Amino acid sequence: MQRSLNVETLKKLGKRVRVCGWVNSIRSHGKILFVDLRDRSGLLQAILGTEGRELKPEWVVELTGTIKKRPKGMANAEIETGKVELVVENLKVLSKSKTPPFEITADSRKINEETRLKYRYLDLRTERMKKNLILRHKVVKFMRDFMDENGFIEIETPLLTKSTPEGARDFIVPSRLHPGKFYALPQSPQQYKQLLMVGGVEKYFQIVKCLRDEDPRADRQAEFTQLDMEMSFVEQEDILKLTEKLMNGIAKLIGRKVTWHRLTYAQALKKHKTDKPDLQRNKDELAFCWILDWPLFDWNKEEKRWDPMHHIFTAPQDPNFKDPKTAKSWQHDLVLNGYEIGGGSLRIHTRELQEKIFELVGIPAKESKKKFGHLLRAFEYGAPPHGGIALGIDRLLMFLTNESSIREVMAFPKTGDGRSLMMDTPSKVDKAQLKELHVKTV
Ligand code: ASP
Repeated sequence: MQRSLNVETLKKLGKRVRVCGWVNSIRSHGKILFVDLRDRSGLLQAILGTEGRELKPEWVVELTGTIKKRPKGMANAEIETGKVELVVENLKVLSKSKTPPFEITADSRKINEETRLKYRYLDLRTERMKKNLILRHKVVKFMRDFMDENGFIEIETPLLTKSTPEGARDFIVPSRLHPGKFYALPQSPQQYKQLLMVGGVEKYFQIVKCLRDEDPRADRQAEFTQLDMEMSFVEQEDILKLTEKLMNGIAKLIGRKVTWHRLTYAQALKKHKTDKPDLQRNKDELAFCWILDWPLFDWNKEEKRWDPMHHIFTAPQDPNFKDPKTAKSWQHDLVLNGYEIGGGSLRIHTRELQEKIFELVGIPAKESKKKFGHLLRAFEYGAPPHGGIALGIDRLLMFLTNESSIREVMAFPKTGDGRSLMMDTPSKVDKAQLKELHVKTV
């Protein structure tokens, strides 16, 4: 017999079914046992006799029996299958379980987070985590469809690459075949997406992991997911409008109210004393705010040099600017309820201007050729004007689910200091492995 999902039994009154799942709870009434069976679709009440005596929570079972309407007054409005129950004829135990370290039936937010992260696969069985992962899937699917409908194509860019500075340290990967040489994991696909524009793609997107080796911070993750996009022959307004349309679509999908605001960087600082103003008026609202008209540079007092406010690829509003102090850029940051959830810009697309910026931020010509020669060279072969944005999917999902941490919307997050308590990473590797990689630890 084909396996039915718990919710499907609603349409199978009087029929024999086979269902599979986890024992969610057991209530014993003398010789009769009421077992709530949990599968990915929800709960189903099953009635067993003494054959179910040894069952324990979280055992995996297969039940065969007949679906009956529950007696009058016994319906349970709390669960989708609350009007029916399964009268079990055959019980098969597929897998036993130890007593779990926490109750799967409760809202796991009250449970010590280290325990939840160590037993993440158990935490994922909870109703709330399941809902969060499903919503994440729906939002990401909406994004993919939206980008597709708007003429973008998804292109994968390499993970083993060269550093693209986004203001953090790189994770580096030693090369076995090239002793003493290293790859860097991408902080973002920034350079690749610009090279795709030179490649004539015109409209690129990717749902992509970015990796940044940052100092520990409570609600940051070293690897996180972005909706990354880039387009050619556009003005800044085109990028803003497309992003607004996308966010409005997502808000509609989940029935949330949206407000849009725009501030210049100077206005934000003056009015709100921050470049990430929280303009939310009630807790259900998604208050988006664009921050525009950014300075191109930020003076780095310690190093006594100009740092790019965004990144070195962002275009100045006036390509012939003279004074780095007053130069404005085409950067756009998107703030949601007081958090930066995205950023992007129009880009530099000529070698001369890119070299001028490298020089101003203190990258000597020799070094910029070594590090960014590929990009400078590409700009000499007909680079279209282009720009884009990247939106942080984890943070966005945190607001869409009203959770208080991005870890609640990720299947396998790490701790704030980058450890996986479940996999025990980072971990030591064999001496032989290090030798093969030509690496010595000190
Ligand atoms: N690469 C940038 C980032 O990850 C976004 C962009 O400029 O499009 O923040």
